[in-house]
Amino acid sequence: MILDLAELPDGQNLEADLCIIGAGAAGITLAMQFIDKGLDVLLVESGGLAYEADTQAMYAGNVTRPDLHAATDRFRRRQFGGSTVLWGGRCMPLDAIDFEARSYVPLSGWPFSLDELLPFYREANRICEAGAYAYTIDEAFDRPMKPMVDGFNGSAYSTDSLERFSKPTNFAACYGAALRAANIRVLLHATATQFRFDDSGQVVTGVKLRSLGGKTADVKAKSFVLATGGLEVPRLLLANRDVHPNGIGNQHGVVGKYYMCHIGGTLSGIKINRSVSVWHDYDIADDDTYCRRRFALLPDMQRKHGTGNFVGRLHHPSIADPAHRSAILSLVFLGSRLLPWEYRTRAFDAISLGDYGRHVLNLVSEPFNAARFAVRMIKGRFLASRKIPSLVVAPKSNEFSLDFHAEQIPNAESRVTLDEGNVDAFGTPRITVDWRYSPQDVETVKTAIALLAEDLKQSGVGTFEYDPETVEQEMIRYGAYGGHHIGAARMGDDPRTSVVDADCKVHGIQNLYISSAAVFPTSSQANPTLTIVALALRLAKHLGGTLRSKAQAS
Ligand SMILES: Cc1cc2nc3c(=O)[nH]c(=O)nc-3n(C[C@H](O)[C@H](O)[C@H](O)COP(=O)(O)OP(=O)(O)OC[C@H]3O[C@@H](n4cnc5c(N)ncnc54)[C@H](O)[C@@H]3O)c2cc1C
Repeated sequence: MILDLAELPDGQNLEADLCIIGAGAAGITLAMQFIDKGLDVLLVESGGLAYEADTQAMYAGNVTRPDLHAATDRFRRRQFGGSTVLWGGRCMPLDAIDFEARSYVPLSGWPFSLDELLPFYREANRICEAGAYAYTIDEAFDRPMKPMVDGFNGSAYSTDSLERFSKPTNFAACYGAALRAANIRVLLHATATQFRFDDSGQVVTGVKLRSLGGKTADVKAKSFVLATGGLEVPRLLLANRDVHPNGIGNQHGVVGKYYMCHIGGTLSGIKINRSVSVWHDYDIADDDTYCRRRFALLPDMQRKHGTGNFVGRLHHPSIADPAHRSAILSLVFLGSRLLPWEYRTRAFDAISLGDYGRHVLNLVSEPFNAARFAVRMIKGRFLASRKIPSLVVAPKSNEFSLDFHAEQIPNAESRVTLDEGNVDAFGTPRITVDWRYSPQDVETVKTAIALLAEDLKQSGVGTFEYDPETVEQEMIRYGAYGGHHIGAARMGDDPRTSVVDADCKVHGIQNLYISSAAVFPTSSQANPTLTIVALALRLAKHLGGTLRSKAQAS
């Protein structure tokens, strides 16, 4: 059932077995697991069913280096469905190496291995509508597939792993009806502000909810889950200082520290020999899911060279530069204003008036190509329920850029703190994001790119000519990869270096859990949502068990 705090009488006292705070990918996944399970679950959400500017404004904050990190109210959405109303849907599990303690990656090592998450990943794939759990070309296709680059025989890279794409699933649109019909209460316009504790300070007894219209409610529950997204989790923990003077779970100052995004950039200079056939477009699996291959740096190479995880995709030349002479790319450039801000920033640089003219010339030189493309995009992107994930254009000559996505190493200097004195409508301090990358991040990208250049050359399929001095500049050209807010309440066994334990329970608090990318101890190369959903499923299993034991004991 869906309720609205703004429409309830003021001062309600609500009770539940489990209170989940935040209805995005994590919160909705968790809540869905308790349908008809005999437990009383309340899912509270700060936003309403649609975008509202005053609610979104609660996400506004301060960014220390605006050239390196997007404003804090960008790349996330404060409404039912959370940021899944905006996401691109790229899905892939973490690799086995991401869970390992690696001597060259400080504070690496998850408290469990990939095997522990595998069953949950399979179900997460279904929830994200990403088709079968098949992440290599052989698993996903039972017919022979064209090689990505014919004759490529890398010693550092493989080209057979896949990324799969969600529709992309808007969790509110997809699961809202089931929640509405179920025995779960969803409470909209209910912002969690303040936690209450028992005398020991180790048990959360309640949370205060507030609506922008001035309504309040109190929730009492046996357990609470914070599923408010990777930046709002540390904010709420740090801002609750009544009982825990440093913030909840922050006795060792770890909350907000080690904040990671991914390192993403585009480097041009790949020339594949004209005689070599290249397939860098989507493969469509039997279940209609779009899949795409990429160059993936092999785990042994990461270990040998001490790099983080890294993948790269063959990519079209810069859209903004009319030298590509492609009518399609020029059409996309000229129409880019129609795209949401989050999708515009990375691909489209500002250009001169003369370049606009050259784009128009490109367009009129191949009007039929441009028109065919426009029809395909309107059908495949705007009208289809499973959308073409992105633009893939075969370049005129076999000249590509590399669109790369790399792991960021945990770094204590990269952090989320409170911007004291700068508060939102409920008096909660806003955040300051001080995202930093380290020399080791630069080395990961430099080494990985050099190894790819060597693999292309050794295979005899082409060359990758670039200036190594420009790599750092290109990897931060658009700043931290947007929307991936990782590590600011990390998981681990040692409370001195982590915030939650292996069950995602806050150290030192008996009944407060976190479901978010904030708990990832390391960031992998993989986009985070599939893992967020898998961890939410694992947490639901754990909570189901503990809440039923509590019910039997009482
Ligand atoms: C443009 C864009 C593209 C993306 N593309 C991809 C992609 O291709 N692949 C991928 O894996 N990921 C992608 N992401 C990231 C993905 O959207 C997030 O990883 C995912 O949505 C995070 O889920 P979450 O539940 O942790 O947080 P969210 O989905 O952000 O949900 C958090 C919820 O908590 C609510 N909330 C916040 N504070 C409070 C409070 N105090 N009280 C009550 N409720 C509160 C919010 O309103 C929101 O509904 C993208 C993101 C963006 C913005």
